[in-house]
Formats: sequence, structure tokens, C-alpha cells
Amino acid sequence: MRPQLNLKVKNKYAKQYKNGFPLIQKQSLINWNELKEEGTLVKLVDEQNQFLGKGYYGNQNKGYGWVVSSDPQEMMDVAFFKNTLQKAIQKRSALMKSEETNAFRLFNGEGDGIGGFTIDYFDGFLVINWYSHGIYSFNSVILEALEDVMNYRGIYEKKRFLADGKYMDDNDYVTGQQAPSPLIIKENGVNFAVHLNDGAMVGIFLDQREVRKTIRDKYSQGKTVLNTFSYTGAFSVYAALGGAKKTTSVDLAKRSLPKTIEQFQVNNIDDKTQSILVEEVFHYFKYAKRKNLKFDVVIMDPPSFARSKKVTFRAEKDYTSLVSDAIAITEKNGLIVASTNASTFGMDKFKGFIDLAFKQNKQKYKIVEEFSLPSDFATIKQFKEGNYLKVLFIKVVG
Ligand code: SAH
Repeated sequence: MRPQLNLKVKNKYAKQYKNGFPLIQKQSLINWNELKEEGTLVKLVDEQNQFLGKGYYGNQNKGYGWVVSSDPQEMMDVAFFKNTLQKAIQKRSALMKSEETNAFRLFNGEGDGIGGFTIDYFDGFLVINWYSHGIYSFNSVILEALEDVMNYRGIYEKKRFLADGKYMDDNDYVTGQQAPSPLIIKENGVNFAVHLNDGAMVGIFLDQREVRKTIRDKYSQGKTVLNTFSYTGAFSVYAALGGAKKTTSVDLAKRSLPKTIEQFQVNNIDDKTQSILVEEVFHYFKYAKRKNLKFDVVIMDPPSFARSKKVTFRAEKDYTSLVSDAIAITEKNGLIVASTNASTFGMDKFKGFIDLAFKQNKQKYKIVEEFSLPSDFATIKQFKEGNYLKVLFIKVVG
């Protein structure tokens, strides 16, 4: 039997749980030190023993686990997971039927009712991301539920709770058919090579699907496009397919070169007509400025935190200066696409960073597109941090 524990919530935090806040946090608990075994079922009660919510203990960087039900008797059994997964699948029925797109998020943690794990769908193959030992202790129940609610080809998993939240290289195959490597998936009719058994990242970030489509359909024709922090070059491929004159992709990681070549090739684009640079972005900005290079479109999608040999980048602190670098090498009436996945600040603050950069450069601008997460990355209003993605298309007014 799974252990169970009553967790006492300090009165000043009780209200947020009554209102549906899902994350169990140490600071809100009186008896957090009684939590021992991950996967323990917990019943949150206030100081007067009034029931607040049912959940489980799972230690991840964000907190101590998640509230998953308003039923004090909830046991988190197969029926519970079946019901929750079924709802998530129904919500994605349009994507499930789409002929243009067969890769998307099928289950998005707390946004779909259970924090601590996500499931991505890649043409019938599933990749489960586990964020704590606690949720992983339910893995056989969740696999049984998945088996019951859908037909999948095979399942892979990423255990993101080993060694201090870092992914550890492992064999990620779980069950069913093995996926070819690469597996070619489709997104908005564009091919994409993904590798399901090759480390924490499979080759594509599914949350940028609508941003990529917009770049291709509205902002690429005849343009020179610089894609910084380019990873596997997804934005570059879309720009090239949208008729860009030329794309330049810049990423520090050595693997980005063969991976970007692969993405061009699976879309029948000659990678030799494009430029792919393995280089520090901040160094490239300096170089481009010195050489007076200008681009029609500059895309920036940095990690929220990155440390290279020479530079440490923190989105919260350094985004303004990144935008300044971009302004210096963007054509008048050109476009800057500024993206961040930092969950520590919201859209208003992000707009503030951008506004400051343009003011410092005495440059007029206009925001022409604005994106947050697509609907398959379901979020709930009670948990704002879950809605991390912010993307702005900014016209540099000439
Ligand atoms: N835009 C990409 C995802 C970016 S992930 C996409 O659409 O798929 C962030 C990338 O930034 C990683 O590939 C990492 O190698 C790269 N990176 C981090 N710091 C960097 C730096 N200082 N210079 C260049 N690339 C960097």
C-alpha cells in the first residue's frame, strides 16, 4: 500500500489551495518534515483540519509535489489516470486528426490536471517526461492507463529527476515498437527528423509550432534571416521554406551543425545554400556589427540561463542587451523575433525589457505579433508559471 499523510497548510496559504493552486510548496507547509517516501499520497488540510486538496509528494526543482484532486478519497489508481488522460486526448482531437501535423503535446502536467509529468506525441510514438521520483512511482499505473485509452506505436521516457534534476543518459525505450532514428514527423506540413532515444532533447521544441508557421507564411519571402540560438535550425528551415533569400543559423553546440543539416535535407533544401555556424552568439553579434552586416529578420530564442566559457546569460537580467545587439544588425523596417521560455517573469516585464532596449537605442518599434503557449500546452490560470513562453515579433520602424 502506498503511504498516506495529512499535510498541514499554514492558514495564510490555505486560500490559494482553495482556489485551485496546484503546486505543493515547502513554505506553505507546517509539517513538511514528515514527508519521507516520494509518491506518498497527501491530503492537504488547513490549520483547522479543513480539507483543501489531494495530491502526491514528489520532489522537483519547483516544489514538493502536486494537488491533483478535490476528492479526499482519491487514490490515484488506474481509473483516475485513465479518466484524466482521456480528457487530455479529447482536447487534442483536432491535432490527432490533422494531416499537416503529427507531433504535439498530448498531456501537459498540471495544465491537464496532474503536475509532474508530460507526454509528447510523435506520429504515434509517445515520449513521457518524468520530473520527480514521486510521479515516476506511478509509472506502471500510468502505462496501464495509457494502454487502455489509446493506440500508440511505442513509448520512450526521459527521467528528468536523476542527479539534481539533470537528465542522465540512459536507455529511453519503454515498450511497444522501437522508433526509427531519425523518425520523420510532420509539423504544418514541414518534415522534421527527431531522435527519441538520443538524450534529453529529441530535436524539436513543440511549443513553437505556431511561431514557426507565422515566420514561414508571413515574414520570410525574399528575406535574409539570422537565427540565433538555433539548435537544430527549426526556424531556419521554416524561413527557407517560406522563400527566404538566405538563412544563417548560429549555435554554440557542435551537434547543432549535423542536426541542422539533417533538418534541411529532410525538407529537400540544399544546406550548402544556407549558412550554419557553430559559434558563440554574443561573439557573432560583435562580428556582424563590426562588418556592418544587416539582416531583414533576426530571431533570438535563448535559454533562460546559459553559461559558456566566456559569457553567462540570464534572460531576466540580460535580455535588454541582447535586443540591443539585435537592433544593431537589423535592417530598417526589418523584424526582430524575440522569444523567451523564462518562467520567472511574465509578458509585461518581457515587453519592458524590449522597450528599454529600443529606448536606449533611440529606435522606434512596433510589436506586430504576440504568442504564448499553443493550446496543446494546456495551462491553468491558477498557475501562471506554467505559461512560460513569450514571443514577440517586433518591427524596427525605419
Ligand atoms: N531556437 C531553438 C531552440 C533553442 S535551445 C529551436 O527553435 O529549436 C537553446 C540553444 O541555445 C541550445 O541549442 C544551446 O546550444 C544554444 N546556446 C546557449 N548559449 C549559447 C551561446 N552563448 N551562443 C550560442 N548558442 C548558445
